[in-house]
Amino acid sequence: MANISIYKKEHCFGCTACYNVCPQDCITMEFDNEGFKFPIVYKSACINCGVCVIHCPITNDFINKEIKQCFGLIHDSSEITNKSASGGAFTAIADLVIQQEGIVYGCGFNDDIEAITMSVDNAEDVSKLRGSKYVQCDNLSQYSEIKKQLNLGIEVLYASTPCNVSGLKAFLGKNFSNLTTVDLFCHGVPSPVLFNKYIQWLEKKYNGKVTEYSFRDKKYGWGTQGHFTIRGKSRILYGTDPYYNSFLQAKTYRLSCYECKFASDKRPGDISIGDFWGVEHFHPEIDTTRGVSAILINTEKGISIKQRMECKVTLFETSFDNISFLNKQLVYPTIKPQIRDLIYLKFQELDFNKFIHEYLFSSPEITIKIKQLIPTKLKVYIRKISSLVVNKTKNRSEKR
Ligand SMILES: Cc1cc2nc3c(=O)[nH]c(=O)nc-3n(C[C@H](O)[C@H](O)[C@H](O)COP(=O)(O)OP(=O)(O)OC[C@H]3O[C@@H](n4cnc5c(N)ncnc54)[C@H](O)[C@@H]3O)c2cc1C
Repeated sequence: MANISIYKKEHCFGCTACYNVCPQDCITMEFDNEGFKFPIVYKSACINCGVCVIHCPITNDFINKEIKQCFGLIHDSSEITNKSASGGAFTAIADLVIQQEGIVYGCGFNDDIEAITMSVDNAEDVSKLRGSKYVQCDNLSQYSEIKKQLNLGIEVLYASTPCNVSGLKAFLGKNFSNLTTVDLFCHGVPSPVLFNKYIQWLEKKYNGKVTEYSFRDKKYGWGTQGHFTIRGKSRILYGTDPYYNSFLQAKTYRLSCYECKFASDKRPGDISIGDFWGVEHFHPEIDTTRGVSAILINTEKGISIKQRMECKVTLFETSFDNISFLNKQLVYPTIKPQIRDLIYLKFQELDFNKFIHEYLFSSPEITIKIKQLIPTKLKVYIRKISSLVVNKTKNRSEKR
């Protein structure tokens, strides 16, 4: 048994291309200590054919040369925008593929609130994939499933993070005219085991099973608040939610996210979608209350999809500079915070309740940063003053 040892750990996205392509079935995906999946090769069965390396997205560059068009988008149905993270771009695209009797693959939660790639083939079930799940999505064997559908001539849409889209393309190894890909703007994904333990922690705290979990509830407008449901009661994820907060502060991502090669204007999908944060500065006439998607059209197929969905959505032209103004993950990868590795070390060492209170609720790095900001001379001075005060108090109490 060995790691698929060709790359640094920081390079592997955990996309499953190698696992799906191995002709010997000798690669498995296993959790590391931080709770992210990595490929493990069972050496005794490996015939050194090298197919896993050929189909790895790190050695392949399925990246489009340039963005062709940029738009803001709001779906005409408020029922759809209410359940979508942004302006409902994903549903507008998915519906086109469903109309062609196609299959849509995307990320949904299963009954245990685990994020996995699943497929739907009717408009009603698209709702299962709607909404952002801020945790790494497990692709399982879905790349192989997608290949089967494509070979049968069925229209397929795959919508996921850019690394997963690139992974699918590397796995397939050739273009299929019946495949459409959508990649998300993405600043990083936390560990599925961390998320799972957090769900269990909520269940213990509120004494019941989490039956629903949403990171992007629109009850109070377009933003990053969410909710979860336990024993039929919906509870809001306030700004102090330990898991969500540490995600938003980029403290818990997979190592490869901090070196993401897709954090740029060269994208792997036919279309890229995200939140049009800051749209009010550039297009003040747009009503932002239901959420606004930003879409980048990267290929000719993307152009044709955009033309076909025009009847269901409000589209307005914009520029890449406007879209990336508050979405810097379209320009460079997220910067790894100092505390990130310590968080995952303590995640392995501590009891989860203690870990969550000491490392996700509080911000130890703030204390570290403040300490670093104080000049050494001032630190020495503060230490002297405090020892003088301590000595004086001691002397007084001794005299008494
Ligand atoms: C981990 C993550 C980080 C993101 N970071 C940013 C960001 O920094 N800036 C930004 O503007 N937008 C970001 N997004 C995208 C944004 O949150 C919305 O998903 C996007 O705008 C699409 O919204 P929508 O209204 O079109 O459709 P929705 O219906 O809300 O989108 C659903 C789509 O998201 C996919 N999806 C959901 N969760 C996952 C997941 N864990 N892995 C893979 N695919 C998933 C589904 O397959 C589906 O295609 C991120 C999304 C994720 C999942």
